[in-house]
Order: sequence, then C-alpha cells, then structure tokens
Amino acid sequence: MYDVFTTRYAFACPERGEARVTLSAFRRIEQLPGAAHPAVYGVDFDCGCGDRHPGLVSHDELDWAPLGLGEGMFLNLMTAKLDPLEDELADLAARRIQAGEWPWSFFCYPEEQPRPIFPSSFFLLAPAGDRSRVGIAVRCPVCGSVSVNLVSAEHVDVPFHNDPEIGVVEHVFQADADRIVESFAGELYSARFDARRTSL
Ligand SMILES: [Zn+2]
Ligand SMILES: [Zn+2]
Repeated sequence: MYDVFTTRYAFACPERGEARVTLSAFRRIEQLPGAAHPAVYGVDFDCGCGDRHPGLVSHDELDWAPLGLGEGMFLNLMTAKLDPLEDELADLAARRIQAGEWPWSFFCYPEEQPRPIFPSSFFLLAPAGDRSRVGIAVRCPVCGSVSVNLVSAEHVDVPFHNDPEIGVVEHVFQADADRIVESFAGELYSARFDARRTSL
C-alpha cells in the first residue's frame, strides 16, 4: 500500500484501476470513528486522472510505513524508543530521531514554536502558490490548536526533509473542524503568511 522507495500510497482509481500518490496529494485526512486499534483514516486525494477520490489508510501506513516501520511497531517520538527494529530503514529512522531530527514538523502559531508531528496530524492539504507549495492545516498534538502552514511538497512527502523556513498564517483557528474547513481555503489564498524558522 505504501512504497518507501517511491514515497507513494496506492489506492483504487475508478478511472485507471490504481492510483499511486504522494502524501502531498492528499486533501483531507480524517480518523474514522469506531475501529480504534488499529485506527483507520478516511482520506480524499487528488488522482493523476484529474479527479478526487476517497481512500482508506491504516494508522500504521499513514505514520509508520514512510519510516520503514512495519505493522504493529510503535515509535514514541518523545522518547525515540522502538522495539524491535525491523530493518535498516527503521533503524536509520530511529537513529535520526534519537539525534534530534524529526520526520515531520510544523509551526504551531498559538505556541510560536515548531513541533514534531506525524502525517495523521495533517487534516487538510491544498496546493498553494505556484503549486510547488502545499498549504497544510495541522492540529497540534501538544496544545490541540490548529495552525495553517505553507510548505514545500518535500516537507510533507519526504520523511526528515524539513523546510528551513515555512510560511505561517497569523490566525488562530477555531478548534471545530467544520469551521476550519470553511476558513482554510480563504486563509490559504489570503497570502498573509509570515516566515518562521523550523529548527526544533
Ligand atoms: Zn483517478
Ligand atoms: Zn501547539
């Protein structure tokens, strides 16, 4: 389902049979109620056929597969503990995290600081600017507030690629998801971004 070498997820496409898309082609990521272990996420993604399709992705595939971690593995970003290590990629990922590098990060505007996250913390994504950039709405795992950042596609797609500077919308978003969906696009195209350094 996730291919670590191409950093792409495979989904069904009604037009072409199969779609292989990067994380930055996702448009919405939402944890489905019910199955908590393992959690399942419903996603919408922009397909190469030109349409947007729904797909399902497990928590493992969303957060751990890009790091080379197999199903059922647990890696705590705060303590960098991983047991057992499955393969070299997972080993390398764990070493980098222990050395203070983070696979994904965003800038929490209410807290005025960068925070490490996993892809499951992204919940809205949209192409922005010249389309080489991606607007992301992220729910902060520490304070629970929502921030909108402007980043490169690599910042989203490639684990451990963190933009040295990211755009931050200077706006405190309402916590309620429907209101954020409404205001996300408006804020994204308002160009009221301010650059912040991301070194954690
Ligand atoms: Zn398609
Ligand atoms: Zn925060």
